[in-house]
Amino acid sequence: MSVRRSRLAPSPTGALHLGNACSFLINWALARKNNWELILRMEDLVGPRIDLSSIKDTQSILTWLGVDWDGEVLRQSLDLIPYKDALNTLIALSKIYHCNLSRKEIEQAASAPHVDDPLGKKAIRPLDISSHNTSWDKQSTNWRFRVHDEPQVVCDELLGKTRFNLLNDFVVWTKNDLPAYQLAVVIDDARQGVTDVVRGHDLLESAAWQSQIYVALGLEEPQWWHLPLVVGEDGLRLAKRHGDTRLLTYFESDMQPEKIIGLIAKWCKITKIHETLSSSEFLQVFDIRKVNTENIVFTKEDEKWLLG
Ligand code: GLU
Repeated sequence: MSVRRSRLAPSPTGALHLGNACSFLINWALARKNNWELILRMEDLVGPRIDLSSIKDTQSILTWLGVDWDGEVLRQSLDLIPYKDALNTLIALSKIYHCNLSRKEIEQAASAPHVDDPLGKKAIRPLDISSHNTSWDKQSTNWRFRVHDEPQVVCDELLGKTRFNLLNDFVVWTKNDLPAYQLAVVIDDARQGVTDVVRGHDLLESAAWQSQIYVALGLEEPQWWHLPLVVGEDGLRLAKRHGDTRLLTYFESDMQPEKIIGLIAKWCKITKIHETLSSSEFLQVFDIRKVNTENIVFTKEDEKWLLG
């Protein structure tokens, strides 16, 4: 039987927080419990400038949490050729077209479907994509993937089937001559032999887009596992307003990682009260079937226990 493989794919920006720790730990425990391989990939193509020290910090934080991985770490920015090859294949297949709108305008167009909205009109794809691409003047430009008109169904191991009506052609290559997240992640998961993608629920809709790239390139789609997000008591995603929940802050203070792991164990319903736990103790009692599909709430009590 061929080996199953999952991956940890942090964007090493220094902004990783408790919600990320929860996803990493569940991903790790799911892989280790089932004898899957688990690889680590640094997604350092997008976002604020990423330097070597934030990559090192991210690895140190994972190790501190007792999360280990197999093999060499891949750093996306070191070799852009696999992404460029995929871009050229998609151009040759007429699956993508260049577009002079900014990425922000393209994203806004997705939430501005009114016909009389000038941006909505401008963001509509050209009628003949192949002739559009031959007129490409090699100026810096965004490249957009032509989504099909049928609803896209994502089959998730935890959430079942979700249908998406994708409204907008999404960006796969940016004006800065870099692959966008949607393309880079598919190319890497495919070339790294990832069979199981385990990550936060906020990327569920991305799976619908990514599915279309898999099909266009004739690649095998992985199994999806989208995990609950951690939110504050106000129901909103963890952010500064909920206090400083960055892992780097905890790591640099004298907090015991066993507290964070214990908190995640309680969130995963494998313990009932706040108690410290090592990652190997977490692994012993971990059961994916107990993990919530609803958001997890980081309560004031959780915070008091963690910082107390
Ligand atoms: N690097 C992405 C993030 O940190 C995760 C991508 C993925 O898991 O597909 O949000």
